[in-house]
Amino acid sequence: MKKRTFIKLSSAVITGSMISPVIDWTQDDKLTNWAGNLIYSTNKLNNPTSIEQVKNFIKAHNKFKMLGTRHCFNTIADSKNEFLSLSNLDLGITIDRDNLTVTVAAGIRYGQLAEDLYKNGFALHNLASLPHISVAGACATATHGSGNKNGNLSTAVAAMEIINASGDLVVLSRKKDPEQFYGAVVNLGALGIVIKITLHIQPTFMVRQDVYENLAMQQLESHFDQIMGAGYSVSLFTDWQNKNFSEVWIKQKIINGVDLTIANDFYGAKPATKNLHPIAEISAENCTVQMGVPGPWHERLPHFKMGFTPSSGKELQSEYFIPRDLVYKAISAVEKLHEKITPHLLISEIRTIDADNLWMSPCYKQQSAAIHFTWKQDWPAVKKLLPLIEEALEPFNARPHWGKLFTISAARIKSLYEKLPDFQQLVKDYDPTGKFRNEFLERNIF
Ligand SMILES: Cc1cc2nc3c(=O)[nH]c(=O)nc-3n(C[C@H](O)[C@H](O)[C@H](O)COP(=O)(O)OP(=O)(O)OC[C@H]3O[C@@H](n4cnc5c(N)ncnc54)[C@H](O)[C@@H]3O)c2cc1C
Repeated sequence: MKKRTFIKLSSAVITGSMISPVIDWTQDDKLTNWAGNLIYSTNKLNNPTSIEQVKNFIKAHNKFKMLGTRHCFNTIADSKNEFLSLSNLDLGITIDRDNLTVTVAAGIRYGQLAEDLYKNGFALHNLASLPHISVAGACATATHGSGNKNGNLSTAVAAMEIINASGDLVVLSRKKDPEQFYGAVVNLGALGIVIKITLHIQPTFMVRQDVYENLAMQQLESHFDQIMGAGYSVSLFTDWQNKNFSEVWIKQKIINGVDLTIANDFYGAKPATKNLHPIAEISAENCTVQMGVPGPWHERLPHFKMGFTPSSGKELQSEYFIPRDLVYKAISAVEKLHEKITPHLLISEIRTIDADNLWMSPCYKQQSAAIHFTWKQDWPAVKKLLPLIEEALEPFNARPHWGKLFTISAARIKSLYEKLPDFQQLVKDYDPTGKFRNEFLERNIF
């Protein structure tokens, strides 16, 4: 994001005590996503400060989209008309200590929520690689971290309050409305405005993070489950050169204060001797602390610190979810394309995600592994590469990440989501006139 743009957005957030004035961006000060690869189709951004204002806005507008923290790389959040952001809607953070839940305004960033939870002695089950994203935006796209037994972030949702296209508040909970709830959590921004989200929490915990260097890809053939199960959350990084994972990040829970020792040899990989960035050439200053130094969950589970620009900044991302038992074959299929991939790549990451029951989650009823690509910001080149990767991954029923770049056809997506017809119906019930639909939803869902 350009500095000027950032300053304008921040001041809108700070001073916007009323809905509207609509922030109408000037021609040279366009509203873009985080990576800057996408200029949104309108720059009209509304920041309501009360639920009443949100309801009034819905009633007064025929077509608009909700914006979270703008971290999606594709057009899922785009609108040709207007945007509504909840970044100004502060509804506080309510912790229910008896039921182990926290209720927040849906626009809050995980980083802010995590700080508050930690101060109160609580934790979330997992975080994505960066803490800067909004809870509503992350849950809408099934954003995930890693861990064989960790579901994506939306699996922590216990209840939601959504304002539908008529301006009515719908309260959904896992306990009371299981069927609709499972359809609504990963909602792709199609059902309405998620105002509040209640998340399951647990007592706070400490984590140590250790990095190993140079794990031979072939080790995954016989040891994938052991390697990915070596910690609470494990990530493998590769640039697809030399059939090698340059880095293995292992995040382990420290139970009852007992520190853990780490092996000097991890399937042939060796412990790093200093903190590393996933892209070895970049300074590790932005990265969460490694070298086994214990720290609170929210300062170890993401790869990037809250106060810093995550990852490389000027980048593109794609990611595909594979049934976990097929992942070695899928990785081998991608590896065959390494000569084409590596020149355009910053880094790739392999993670695991537990199965869930959320209709539009790429991990619906499927223990999954995800193959992620952080690309250099060269869309013409990446656009040519993605169909090759998708073709190689087709035999493994690869499902694309909803918030990242893909070229898989709508017909193929339909065949990959058995609950898609039910989701379409749910969307029609919440939004009969297509108020929240955009070109992305029309193309991929309808
Ligand atoms: C550097 C970087 C690292 C990333 N790392 C990861 C990672 O580790 N794991 C992973 O899975 N993904 C990752 N992502 C992708 C990112 O988590 C998702 O794109 C996520 O959806 C971004 O959330 P957001 O708040 O920015 O959403 P936005 O891009 O603003 O919006 C996403 C969708 O949510 C909808 N939405 C937003 N707010 C609301 C609301 N209140 N009510 C209803 N709908 C709403 C929007 O309409 C849109 O459809 C990464 C992205 C970046 C840029």
